[in-house]
Amino acid sequence: MSRINVMRPWLGPEEVAAAAEVIESGWVAQGPRVAAFEQAFAEVQQAAHAVAASSCTTALHLALVVAGVRPGDDVVVPSFSFIATANAPTYVGARPVFADVDPTTGNLTAETVTAALTPATRAVIAVDQGGVPVDLDAIRAVTDPRGIVVVEDAACGAGSTYRGRPVGAGADVTAWSFHPRKLITTGEGGMLTTPHEDWAARARMLREHAMSVSAAARHASVLAPPEEYTEIGFNYRMTDLQAAVGLVQLGRLPAIVARRREIAAEYTEALADVPGLRAVADPTWGTSNFQSFWIEAGAELGTDRDGLLAHLAEADISARRGIMAAHRQPAYAGAEHLPLPVTERLTDTTLILPVFHQMTGEEIGRVVAAVRSAARR
Ligand SMILES: *Cc1c(COP(=O)(O)O)cnc(C)c1O
Repeated sequence: MSRINVMRPWLGPEEVAAAAEVIESGWVAQGPRVAAFEQAFAEVQQAAHAVAASSCTTALHLALVVAGVRPGDDVVVPSFSFIATANAPTYVGARPVFADVDPTTGNLTAETVTAALTPATRAVIAVDQGGVPVDLDAIRAVTDPRGIVVVEDAACGAGSTYRGRPVGAGADVTAWSFHPRKLITTGEGGMLTTPHEDWAARARMLREHAMSVSAAARHASVLAPPEEYTEIGFNYRMTDLQAAVGLVQLGRLPAIVARRREIAAEYTEALADVPGLRAVADPTWGTSNFQSFWIEAGAELGTDRDGLLAHLAEADISARRGIMAAHRQPAYAGAEHLPLPVTERLTDTTLILPVFHQMTGEEIGRVVAAVRSAARR
């Protein structure tokens, strides 16, 4: 019996060849492949502009800077998210204000955002948690009249849809991740997309030390034109090595999403009759890529979440605790927050089952059998 991991990236000889070609070209830093990856990603996500970054975390930082979030501002974020969502506002001197989430989607709602607004609210970071599309229109109905910027954290969302379009297309600015735990990977990597041309241009400068002439442009001329540093920037660049891999991965995205949705459907059907067990599902307004297929261990299950995890581990199945709650981490100890009952319940009762492209029917069957036998105990 072999270990079933919670996630495994799908990489093949095409990625190897693409990386080798970049190495042979002699130009491995940010250059033509990054530009090509940005263009291809923008097309796939129906975004006007795409700016590659070193991670989703750095893309979120850039997003808040170009959105004009400043020290003293409040930014509404779900606590029920990877810690980077809450950290981004702190990078610009703003305060993350934790809002609760909906129990079925794990996402912010118009109601939970409204409850977290203060006179200082400047932005909301709406997450497509685990790939489940957030109901952005409902949140914008609250934020637009107040002039509050909506940033979408679509780290997990590549391949998910909202009202017939890719997620992220309806936000002021969206950040994406290419960490191996997400649908497509460049090792580490991220992207910022936005409909605002001036925001994209500023993000492009800021990721490269706010340099007036890009390194690629300097390389292209024998006598490099003099550059200026227009403001205090960062080094948040992606490399051409990463982008070459990303271009191949982007081509695989439709197949990856289709296979993940198939696996999720098999789990859903096979576990539907287990009392006390609830599985994440598509909301009415869109489709999930099932980046995280989570199940909630309810009271009727006969074992709690940690018992279920331990039982799966005995069968050499590496499931994971569900999404974390940032407000419970030492990094945010002592920070005041609203009551977050749904966040706390979900973070205590959910776990993520293995889903990866290469997963076999036999492996799916093993996971299902282990969950069912834990429930019977
Ligand atoms: C993974 C993740 C991030 C961070 O992405 P990196 O590319 O690793 O920086 C941010 N937000 C959410 C919701 C995530 O799941």
